[in-house]
Amino acid sequence: MNKTLIKIDFHAPPEQQPYIHNRWHPDIPMVAWVEPGDEFRVECLDWTGGQIQNDDNASDVRDVALTKVHYLSGPIGVKGVEPGDLLVVDLLDVGALPESAWGFTGIFARENGGGFLVDHYPDARKACWNFSGLYTHSRHIPGVEFAGITHPGLIGCLPSRALLDTWNKREAELFATNPDRVPPLCALPNAENAHMGSMNPSQAQKAMKEAVRTVPPREHGGNCDIKNLSRGAKIFFPVYINGAGLSMGDIHFSQGDGEITFCGAIEMAGYLDLRVSLIKGGMQSYGITNPIFQPSPVEPNYNRYLIFEGISVDEAGKQYYLDVHVAYRRACLNAIEYLKKFGYTGEQAYAILGTAPVQGHISGIVDIPNACATLYVPSEIFSFDILPNAKGPVKAVKGHAADLAKAM
Ligand code: ZN
Repeated sequence: MNKTLIKIDFHAPPEQQPYIHNRWHPDIPMVAWVEPGDEFRVECLDWTGGQIQNDDNASDVRDVALTKVHYLSGPIGVKGVEPGDLLVVDLLDVGALPESAWGFTGIFARENGGGFLVDHYPDARKACWNFSGLYTHSRHIPGVEFAGITHPGLIGCLPSRALLDTWNKREAELFATNPDRVPPLCALPNAENAHMGSMNPSQAQKAMKEAVRTVPPREHGGNCDIKNLSRGAKIFFPVYINGAGLSMGDIHFSQGDGEITFCGAIEMAGYLDLRVSLIKGGMQSYGITNPIFQPSPVEPNYNRYLIFEGISVDEAGKQYYLDVHVAYRRACLNAIEYLKKFGYTGEQAYAILGTAPVQGHISGIVDIPNACATLYVPSEIFSFDILPNAKGPVKAVKGHAADLAKAM
C-alpha cells in the first residue's frame, strides 16, 4: 500500500484539521511536499465534512451549511513544478474507507442549493447507499443496482494571484446581473465558515474575504464532477504557482453525467492513491488552459441503453435557440416521466439519473432552432425490463413502500 500523505480524522471537526481547506487561494500553505514520480495516498472527508447522516430523515440535507463546502485535502506541493508546467496526475486507485463504507445522494431544497430540476423538485430529499464491493444499492430506491465509476468530483491546483483576481471579477459581474436570485447565480467569496488550511490566523482573516468558493469548475480543474475522471485516469493539470498545490475531495462512488440533483452523485469519504510527474512548459507547448485527461482502461461495461431525447423547447412550450441547458433538462424530464410508469416516484427517478452511470450527450447543436440533448440510461441496472413492449410497463416497484427520505 502507498504511504498515507494525508490522513483524515472522522472524530475531529474538519475546521480543526490543518491539512483540509474549503476555499481556493494562492497563499494556502502546502501541507506536504512530494517529488515527481512519488506515489502516495490522500484521504478525504465527504464534501460536507460529515454533515449528512445515514438515516431516513432529510432534515440534514435541507439544513446543510453550504458555507462549509467543499472540504478538500491538500494542498500538496510537487518539487520543481513551476507556473506554465503541466502537473501529470495518475489516479491509481479511488475507494471508500472501511470506517465509512456508505454514501448519500441529496436533492437540495430551492432555498439551500437547489438542483438542475429545482422548479419540478424544490424540496429536500435523501437517499442512502450501501456498498457491496464494486456495486451499490439503496434502501430508498428499490429495483436498481449498479457498478460504481468511482472518482473525485473535485481535484485541481491552486490559482495564481492574477487568476484569483480574474475569477473574482468575472463572477462578481455575473452575480450583479441578478443579485436577489434564489438559488444565486454564483457563490461569491464568503468568510463565514472559511477554512484556510494551516494559514496563520491573521493572514487567514484577510485572505478568506477574497478566497474563491469551491463550487464551480474553473481553469485549474476544481469541481468538474466528471464521472470518467475515475480510478485509472491520467490528468494533465495546468500549473499556476510554484509547487502546483494539488488539492482534492468530493469523492463520488458513482455519478450520472451532469450530477443533476446538485448533490447528485453518491457522495462519500474515501481515499485516492496518486502518482505525480510533470511536463516542463507543457501549458504553452500543448496550448492548454483547462485540464485534459485520459480516461481509465477500467470502467463499468454497460452496453445496453435506453436513450431519451430532449430539445430546446421548455416545459411551457417556449422555443429557445440551440440551448443545450433546456434540451438536457427536457431529456431528463422525459426519462423521469418514463421511469414513473414503473412505479418510481419522480424523486426516485431523479436520483437514479444523478447517481447511476448515465451518459449525457450533446447530440445536435447546429439544427436551428433546436439543440438535441440525449440521456443514455443503462437498462441493465434495473432488476426488471424497462424497454417498451406491447403489454405496457410492469409496475415493478409497486408494493415497495420505500421512497427517498423527506425532511421532518
Ligand atoms: Zn459531490
